[in-house]
Amino acid sequence: MRYLVITDIHANLEALEACLADASARGYEQTLVLGDIVGYGPDPDAVVERVKGLRPLAMVRGNHDKIALGMDHAQGFHAIARAAARWTLDTLTPDHRQWLAALPEGPCAVDELVEICHGSPFDEDAYIVDEFEALRAINTAAAPLCLYGHTHFGVAFQLSNGVLEITRLAGGGRTELLLRDGVKYLVNPGAVGQPRDGDPRAAYAIVDTASRRIELVRVAYPLDVTREKVLKAGLPEMLARRLAVGR
Ligand code: ZN
Repeated sequence: MRYLVITDIHANLEALEACLADASARGYEQTLVLGDIVGYGPDPDAVVERVKGLRPLAMVRGNHDKIALGMDHAQGFHAIARAAARWTLDTLTPDHRQWLAALPEGPCAVDELVEICHGSPFDEDAYIVDEFEALRAINTAAAPLCLYGHTHFGVAFQLSNGVLEITRLAGGGRTELLLRDGVKYLVNPGAVGQPRDGDPRAAYAIVDTASRRIELVRVAYPLDVTREKVLKAGLPEMLARRLAVGR
């Protein structure tokens, strides 16, 4: 099976379309969505529609998707995220809000090799930012390969004979990871719609379970179009600026 893995789309339609076009050219069979479909970006309705149309095999909700359950779920958000959440909630159609509100909490088992979550398998909202959290996550994961998002930072952790190894995936055009037997993996493909690793290109992954290979891909997209839409929507200006620098 070849899975297209997308996470942290954040209502960025141009970034999503660029990833889908690139992934279609490479070929994939099923889609896995790791959450934060909306929030920050100017196209929540169009992005929800596009993701629905992909008929993903598995999806989990992100903290920004929980906004569909009400503004109470924006408690931990800083001022800019809160303003964007308010705008997103007011913009979403009732149907799309309902669809987002029904997204399940992770982790979610996909097959005997793969499971998905938004933040971590022990807490959907936790950020894996250091080796301690990564080790806790990799030990909690039920499957050999746990895919996650939330930090908007492409990174792969692997645990082999009690030793944790880290591979940063930032900056490269395309990186491959071969899954070995007896090793546990925790992989974040990076964000589709709001990369924060200094590379403004959209990020996604393809997992091939037959060849046990992960391709980590970066794709350029017309971010000036998205930035223009952010400003036109009246969303905080900083959200337009950060797209250009990937921070
Ligand atoms: Zn996110």
